[in-house]
Amino acid sequence: MKLTKRLTDAFNAQIEAEMWSANLYSSMGIYFQKMGLSGCAHWMKKQAEEELGHANKLIEYGVTRGGDIKISAINAVPTTWDDPQAVFGHVYQHECHVSELIDNLMDIALEENDKATQEFLRWFVNEQVEEEETAQGILDKFNVFGVHGLYCVDHELGKR
Ligand code: MG
Repeated sequence: MKLTKRLTDAFNAQIEAEMWSANLYSSMGIYFQKMGLSGCAHWMKKQAEEELGHANKLIEYGVTRGGDIKISAINAVPTTWDDPQAVFGHVYQHECHVSELIDNLMDIALEENDKATQEFLRWFVNEQVEEEETAQGILDKFNVFGVHGLYCVDHELGKR
């Protein structure tokens, strides 16, 4: 059974969203690099690579299932933030948004009665729990230590 047109369209939209995420994190990495926060920049680079990995996972599955998978134009991403804490606030918000997108994708797979795709998407559902938790954890460190903890946070994120 091939991916339905509706699921294919939803996959293409999610691939675009994952690629946009990769660009967002690359942009955040540039922001940190310019500030001299190389640990935060390193973390963002890894995060961007992960997002491209998500896009590739969706592409591979979509093509395997005979979907008409296409890469579309990716919208521009933000290039500046108020401060490092605001960047991680944005990461957390963005990951919550991606979780909603994945949930919507799962709803479509359920409505289309595509069991294989439901199984495939379960990995993404679990991955989002981890993504939100990680972003929340970094934000918590900022909230506890404030600006003075920046050096410690930067050092820790450099170990990713
Ligand atoms: Mg992702």
